[in-house]
Amino acid sequence: MIVSADAGSRGGKPVPYKPLLDEAISLSKYKPEAVLLVDRGMSAMNLVAGRDQLWGNLREKHLRTVVPCEWVDATHPSYTLYTSGTTGKPKGVQRDTGGYCVALAASMKHIYAGNAGETYFSTSDIGWVVGHSYIIYGPLIAGMATIMYEGLPTRPDGGIWWSLVEKYKVTVMFSAPTAVRVLKKQDPALLTKYDLSSLRALFLAGEPLDEPTAQWISAGLGKPIIDNYWQTETGWPILSLCNGVEQAKSKFGSPGKAVYGYDVKLLDDQTGEELVGPNQKGVVAVEGPLPPGCMQTVWRDDERFVNTYWKSVPGKLVYSTFDWGIRDADGYYFILGRTDDVINVAGHRLGTREIEESIAAHPNIAEVAVVGVADQLKGQVAMAFAVLKNPALVTDDASALALEAEVFKLVDKDLGAVARPARVRFVTVLPKTRSGKCLRRAIAAVCEGRDPGDLTTMDDPAALQQIKDLVTP
Ligand code: AMP
Repeated sequence: MIVSADAGSRGGKPVPYKPLLDEAISLSKYKPEAVLLVDRGMSAMNLVAGRDQLWGNLREKHLRTVVPCEWVDATHPSYTLYTSGTTGKPKGVQRDTGGYCVALAASMKHIYAGNAGETYFSTSDIGWVVGHSYIIYGPLIAGMATIMYEGLPTRPDGGIWWSLVEKYKVTVMFSAPTAVRVLKKQDPALLTKYDLSSLRALFLAGEPLDEPTAQWISAGLGKPIIDNYWQTETGWPILSLCNGVEQAKSKFGSPGKAVYGYDVKLLDDQTGEELVGPNQKGVVAVEGPLPPGCMQTVWRDDERFVNTYWKSVPGKLVYSTFDWGIRDADGYYFILGRTDDVINVAGHRLGTREIEESIAAHPNIAEVAVVGVADQLKGQVAMAFAVLKNPALVTDDASALALEAEVFKLVDKDLGAVARPARVRFVTVLPKTRSGKCLRRAIAAVCEGRDPGDLTTMDDPAALQQIKDLVTP
């Protein structure tokens, strides 16, 4: 059975869900027996007879029904959540039931310090891992009320979240650095307009928290800001401060120390050797076994789970996070970005290869490279550089913009608007090594105005120059 609604709302505009759902069902091999729909009165729906049912009617009928618990093994999968990696094919992260409950219950106590009877407010989306863990399961397991907020942090004005904290006496709040960077552009007086005395701390996760943003929100709210680092794969924090166990001071720019249960190591990516000294840069890895709550496997692909996550560091069977990091002399970690082709746009994890595959499906695109480029607001944005099959079709700015708009549409449809590149630029050739490997890192460096590094293996220097000319204002 699928449970859905007529539409969601974004910035006050309805986003119709039903047509998307109908298309997904028509594409799928296994059709659901029933679709239960909540009609929020935002978008007209065509109901499929015999399959679609309206929640309103059924709710009345079943309101007081007592449903017995369905007991399952601790290892019974609770859900799968798809996430991006190096290839164009997303991985289904499979989570268990018992271990996940244990991990979340413990984290509510030791990391978030939330108590039964209080209110938790995570501004995430339930479709993402933070939403699963800390809108739904975590707070409810801990006996807390949870707030599900639909919409932007700036509507009707930049004080909406703080008004909710006041109204519902929120004690623990969880958001993402991008949201705070959005609020930074609003009137700072909104941060002190409401009574925030119930709030003990604001937790931020999902992307690097830059020091100025952390300092701004900490000073504005007068509350501790606690960065925590984790992944869809782990389901709860790898690095954080465990203030529910013992108080530790925050260091701006660091998500803290290894959380109990995680044997975190920094490893040399070439030799697999452990880096034990302070401030050495290595791959952030976790020695097995992983603590409860972490992924069991890749859905229906154990081999991919082992090969992707456990065999990427030479000579060691160890879980790789695919992030670079350093650890200072006090044991605080700092995350320095991904080791793979994953980019982080406003806290959304995207695989550049997935975006490339989507764009390459356009009939006039022969080849494309997508890279992540630093952005003040969103952390990173995707930039695409494409080679045309028939360059004669793009002769001036107007035709280039028209083709760019077609590509945007394609990406929106395949992956959603979050994955849409900031720009799609057209070039005659992509910079490659003589063995034909696309130099994505050099492209990203040029887009960010950095030195592209060693280019001795590059086949055609003019290729990178073309990109430089396009992106230099
Ligand atoms: P996701 O699976 O979508 O939660 O994305 C996980 C990735 O986001 C990690 O591998 C990191 O690259 C990044 N990330 C998450 N939290 C943080 C954080 N607190 N600081 C820096 N990077 C983070």
